[in-house]
Amino acid sequence: MAARCRHESRWRQHITEPCVFDNVVQGRTQAHMVLEEEALVGFLDYRPVFDGHTLVVPRNHYATLAEVPKELLGTLLAAGRRVAAAQQAVLGAQGTFFALNDVVSQSVPHVHLHVVPRRFGDGLRGFLWPRHRYPSEEAAAALAASLRAALPLA
Ligand SMILES: [Zn+2]
Repeated sequence: MAARCRHESRWRQHITEPCVFDNVVQGRTQAHMVLEEEALVGFLDYRPVFDGHTLVVPRNHYATLAEVPKELLGTLLAAGRRVAAAQQAVLGAQGTFFALNDVVSQSVPHVHLHVVPRRFGDGLRGFLWPRHRYPSEEAAAALAASLRAALPLA
């Protein structure tokens, strides 16, 4: 087995630590709540990309997206959409960046949807990943076919 990079080691360590979002959900840690629903809460990220950057978090602890019950996924995105509407109304946001890091780059091992208010020309460049092209259309088609064949049942 290949050696773990430091990012993977950090993830392995994170998932054994007390969950900071459980503390927020249970009121042991103060957070600036934006949304409180039966199954979810939303609160301001303490280090926002832009003001109003909100994290929408299931009340129950799920470390990864794979653990989240399917019926909660729609609820999660719907809550994010409501937060985005509030950001538009309050901050004059013109759009939204929705993001969910799953395991890699996931800073807290409790599933959370980032809802980041955007404006045209806001200069956000942190998500411009290096891009490349497939070596050929055939290679792309073959990969797409492999992915289709591997899709889990809905
Ligand atoms: Zn948690």
